[in-house]
Amino acid sequence: MLSSQALVIKIKCTICSAENEICIDRVELESEPSGVVRIPIEHFIPQPHLLVIDIDAHGTIRGAYIIKDYPLLEGVLMGEILDTIGISNLSKLLAWLLVYDEVDLYGRNPDVTKLISTFLSHVFGNARKISLGKEKARVRLDVSNIPEPEFSLSVINRRLQSAVKNIKSSSSLIAFLKNEFERYVTYINVFEEALKSTKRRLTMDDFIRISEGKLQRDEIKLILAVLKARGIDVSRKVEIPEFKIAELF
Ligand SMILES: [Zn+2]
Repeated sequence: MLSSQALVIKIKCTICSAENEICIDRVELESEPSGVVRIPIEHFIPQPHLLVIDIDAHGTIRGAYIIKDYPLLEGVLMGEILDTIGISNLSKLLAWLLVYDEVDLYGRNPDVTKLISTFLSHVFGNARKISLGKEKARVRLDVSNIPEPEFSLSVINRRLQSAVKNIKSSSSLIAFLKNEFERYVTYINVFEEALKSTKRRLTMDDFIRISEGKLQRDEIKLILAVLKARGIDVSRKVEIPEFKIAELF
């Protein structure tokens, strides 16, 4: 079944010693916009944990880390959420939660709305308020018809698709997304401070340094785009010549 297009990577988990063979399509790897594919691998013994690996276009493992000790959630059914509102709406919803600190969700089916609200509370923790039925929220979103943000959803789409494809249990899937989105929220705040406190224009190298290598380039672009959507004057304060500004923001 394996063609020359397929790349096989072997990796051993430091938690449970399980050995995995990951098969990746070379064309898919080379067409990855960031040049790095992030793949979560789920293990169940002795307790559910995730081995997450970053693989570059040459098939080299660029990073590997473990997500463990996360709560085993009951009642947050990712399958049901995805079946009801679809992966595209969920992706847009996650993007808006990066932009706004407080949102109000509504929808035809209150049970589904509640389920999605619980899911988002797990992913974002205290960083965002998902206040059902509250008047004070700046934004109200219909869970089955989320508007398109004015920035690229490429990173969020790829993370979500990779998670859904590779992770079976809702608890592990949420733990993976929480790990991703908590990092984005952290650096949204860090970058905002950096942009406010500097007089010169910041470059991509500056942002890589500020993020201590914890963000890929396309994640940095996502965060700058989110900051722009949050009302920060990003275009005037960054100098990133390798990207067309129109595409970036
Ligand atoms: Zn393991």
